[in-house]
Formats: sequence, C-alpha cells, structure tokens
Amino acid sequence: MAVHSGRRRVVGRIRTAIGALAVALVAGAAVAVPAAPAEAAGAKADQGGKVVYLTFDDGPSPTYTPRILGILARYGVRATFFEIGQNVAAHPALTGQVARAGHSVQNHSWSHPDLRRLSASAVNAQVANTDKAIRAQTGRTPSCLRPPYGAVNGAVRSRAAALGKQVVLWSVDPTDWSRPGTAAIQSRVLKNVRPGSVILLHDGGGDRGQTAAALPTILSTLKARGYTFGTLCS
Ligand SMILES: [Zn+2]
Repeated sequence: MAVHSGRRRVVGRIRTAIGALAVALVAGAAVAVPAAPAEAAGAKADQGGKVVYLTFDDGPSPTYTPRILGILARYGVRATFFEIGQNVAAHPALTGQVARAGHSVQNHSWSHPDLRRLSASAVNAQVANTDKAIRAQTGRTPSCLRPPYGAVNGAVRSRAAALGKQVVLWSVDPTDWSRPGTAAIQSRVLKNVRPGSVILLHDGGGDRGQTAAALPTILSTLKARGYTFGTLCS
C-alpha cells in the first residue's frame, strides 16, 4: 500500500508540472503561471498540488453573476472574474459584491474587442478605463489582463507588460458560451482538469443558465477528487 500511495504522489507531482506547462504554452511568455498566489502554495504543501483555478469571463451580469456567486458561496469556493469594463459601469454594485465575497476581479477590456486589431492608444484606453471602473468598486487595481478571445500577439503582450499587466489565458475550455448542454460542460471540465488547470467559464455575455446549472456537479466532483480552489492575480 505504501508503494502505491508513494507512486500516486509522484504521478501527482508530474501532473502538476504538466498542468503548469500547459498554461505556460497556451499563454506564452507574459503569463501569470498560477503558482504565484500564496494560498495556492499553501494548498500545494497540504494537498499534493491539487489546486484548480476557476475563472468567469464577460460579467458582471445581473442575471447570472448573483446566481454563480450563490453557488460558489454554498461550496466555499473562490474564483477569478475577468470583467468587461462597460458591464462594470452598467452594474457597479455587482462588481463590489464579487470582490466582497473574496473573489479576484480582473481586467477583460472595456468592450471586448480583439486587441490585436487596435492601436496602442486604443488598447491603453480599453485597459485603463476598465481598471478605473473596477478600482472604484473594489479598491484594487487589477494586476492581470485576459485579452478577449484569448487573442494575443507580440504587440498585445508588450502593451500589457507596459501597462503592468500579466496576461492570463486558460488551459481548460468547455466552450460553455456555445451552450453545448449542462452535461457536456460538466464532462468537458471533469475529463480535462489537472492540478494547476485554469478553467474558462462565463458569467456574462449571454444566456449562462447551463454554466450555472453545471457548476454544483463540477464543484462537488472536484472536491471529492481532493482539489482545492485558488484565485489568480490577487
Ligand atoms: Zn470574453
């Protein structure tokens, strides 16, 4: 038995390394590899590195953000919300609510353009105006930027770096935004998750009923597998 449990631990460590590598490969050079948060480091020591990072994009949404916050609270799970500036401006109290619940609130641009197609000054405005709107509600300036569509090139990376932002993408994408069905969202996440995974979900930008419905099973299954949940960029 001791041999088996030792082997499992080694495999866990290898999987953690693969998970971190996957994120680095997806995100390129200017990436926030999710080993940084202190609570993740603590969880690694205790749980053999089985940390996962839930992220929610395109909110806040008056319909789905409170629903998702309620589910996360029920399971005692914290996540990272990449919010769109114009949605923050439309629903500022929701952004405050997300932050007060202990979640990380980060920058997903002002109006969700492909940043590769914008001038440097337009990218600056997308990021700075969103920072300002989020800071007004949370008291904190986002340290990370998730470019819409994950669309990055050298110019976007250097703009982000000049603005002091780490670029954060993801390593597990169930394409919940395409509404493939609650069961499909669940199985795509649960089949592909590894220690260190950054999971992309959405709380805004359309009908996110399937995402919300998928969440309790995702959370309870990951917990049963021994995962803990970390936040990014906080
Ligand atoms: Zn988005």
